[in-house]
Amino acid sequence: MITGKNYIGNKLSAKGDVTHSTINPKLNIENPTPFFEATQAEVNEAVTLAWDAFKVYRKVPGSKRAAFLNAIADEILALDQELIDMYTTESGLPEGRAIGERGRTVYQLRTFADLVSNEDWRENVIDEAIPDREPLPKEDLRKTLIPLGPVVVFAASNFPLAFSTAGGDTASALAAGCPVIVKAHAMHSGTAELVASAIIKAAEKTGMPNGVFSNIMGRGRTVGTALVKHPKVKAVGFTGSISGGRALFDLASQREEPIPVFAEMGSINPVIITSKAVAKRSEAIATTYAGSITLGTGQFCTNPGLILTIESDKTQAFIEDLANKTIAIEPQCMLGPNIKSGFVENGESVIAQEGVEVVGKIKGDIEANYAASYIASVSGTDFLANPKMHQEVFGPFSLVVRCKDETQLIQIVDGLEGQLTGTIIAEEEEYATLHDLVDALENRVGRIIFNGVPTGVEVCPSMQHGGPYPASTDSRFTAVGTGSIKRWVRPISYQSFPDALLPMALKR
Ligand code: NAP
Repeated sequence: MITGKNYIGNKLSAKGDVTHSTINPKLNIENPTPFFEATQAEVNEAVTLAWDAFKVYRKVPGSKRAAFLNAIADEILALDQELIDMYTTESGLPEGRAIGERGRTVYQLRTFADLVSNEDWRENVIDEAIPDREPLPKEDLRKTLIPLGPVVVFAASNFPLAFSTAGGDTASALAAGCPVIVKAHAMHSGTAELVASAIIKAAEKTGMPNGVFSNIMGRGRTVGTALVKHPKVKAVGFTGSISGGRALFDLASQREEPIPVFAEMGSINPVIITSKAVAKRSEAIATTYAGSITLGTGQFCTNPGLILTIESDKTQAFIEDLANKTIAIEPQCMLGPNIKSGFVENGESVIAQEGVEVVGKIKGDIEANYAASYIASVSGTDFLANPKMHQEVFGPFSLVVRCKDETQLIQIVDGLEGQLTGTIIAEEEEYATLHDLVDALENRVGRIIFNGVPTGVEVCPSMQHGGPYPASTDSRFTAVGTGSIKRWVRPISYQSFPDALLPMALKR
């Protein structure tokens, strides 16, 4: 049963009088539970508790943090159908997606548990002393990674589980030894409370300090702003819009003590399809891409929003086929009314630009929060002249650009903002001609996909989910995979330290 209250450490708290409700987007009605937004006093209490917990938690051995993470996974699974029902009610996403996303969330938690059960992830370095080195002796130096302190995680609207309360940011920060305060996304506050209850149970069962985790509700920026400004918060994880991520990044930079904000934001994920690929397998590519563009109602940060082709009759036929296949897929529900209005407004802004034509769009009556998928097309010359077409349209939409030749196509890739992904669809006989394109993509994206789709992000050590700005605020880090733990730690060196005072893994 949910209460609508915040978790300030292991206590439920509702000191304020401002509440919000979540929406069932499929039925387009408000859900019954009012959620109490945190007051400034509750924000302060959660951060103070987190700071006190940090002093203990940073020293908790990796094996115990692993037990905590595994216990969170167990408690999430124990929520069973209650969690799945809450997820589908608040997100409009189908039950299969809820179960899949829960599986991914549990897998992430267990993967970080495995990672920190030994010390390898810290990449400890030991440089022993050379007392007789000439002209000067060399000191003994030992380096390791230590946690930053309390981390604020902004839950994502489009992944109520895997990028939210116990999602990748929370799992990696807890694994690193940082307490976490989650700013729940106001579109799925009930799902957030259920998952928070699982984390609190796991913390109590495994003996973690009170304050290692808090879940704070809020809507309208006040709560998020207060958290990021709090001097005892030492880092921020965020998934959402460019404007939101940038605002929080600026806020964090203006603090007396600036802190890192790891924001994963917008992307249009360019897909380059060569003429030879179109000539050889146009229909198969159109079928695959109609599926990728509409997957999850297009509400993925890796959605293929921009397709670059070389103009020809065959390309024109491909674009029409892609549009027909895309609109033949049943319209699906979006996450909520604000996401739907963003989809409509941003799409309208793109198709209003000079030279853009809609090739195919779902027509007729469509339910309130459902999305009418569509494909638009524009010439390479018009696209090059107008950066307004780079706008992310978060939903089932893609803009296909008809470039006049390969040189123009590469010019377009060079002119794009930073992206999470770039994809090349090409034939084997073309490999030798693709080096310039690969070079151009390397400078713009975090992950390059060959003959595949950008949707679907594997959780593994080689994953890079993050790219040059505005795909993310720091392209040197990933938001997915075990490497994401590096966002929450900093290096420290110990010089000429006695064994008695060194951390266990650095001792002689
Ligand atoms: P959002 O508006 O960026 O909000 C995400 C979170 O950040 C919310 O908790 C929000 O809190 C907080 N926030 C945003 N701006 C803030 C500010 N200036 N100060 C303090 N807190 C702030 O994203 P969204 O609600 O998930 O969706 C809006 C649009 O973002 C979508 O339509 C889509 O275009 C884009 N989006 C992109 C991705 C992606 O992966 N590329 C994912 C999700 C959404 P409040 O609720 O309190 O304002």
